[in-house]
Amino acid sequence: MSTLQSIPTLLRSHGLRVTPQRLAVAELVLEKPIHITARTAYETLRSAHPAISMNTIYLTLGQFESSGLLSRFEVGGNTVFDSNTSPHHHAFCKRCKAIIDLNDEQKELPRLPAALEHWHIDHEQRILSGTCPQCIEI
Ligand SMILES: [Zn+2]
Ligand SMILES: [Zn+2]
Repeated sequence: MSTLQSIPTLLRSHGLRVTPQRLAVAELVLEKPIHITARTAYETLRSAHPAISMNTIYLTLGQFESSGLLSRFEVGGNTVFDSNTSPHHHAFCKRCKAIIDLNDEQKELPRLPAALEHWHIDHEQRILSGTCPQCIEI
């Protein structure tokens, strides 16, 4: 996202009406690079916004995704929303649940398996799972 735009302007430019709850979610997930689940967003916001529900947060994150403000992927049984909307791969630490972006990965698709010979593949997202250096040291 552009840092020159304010959050309300950004929401409006993506066809979203500015509501207090939408604004609260947007300030959490759109102001800095983040990978976040709806549950974590809820736990982060609920003290400052007692009226906000888990369902509202999930729906709002889904609206942001549909509007192109967030991307989404699944890892470790969770749906993760990502403020980075350009195509990229991820690495996931199974112990501390850290997720990092692999932005420098080549964008070319690898050679396809024979089973996909007649497919047209336009998207690939890899998730490399393992243990991060901090967790190996423990
Ligand atoms: Zn770790
Ligand atoms: Zn990411």
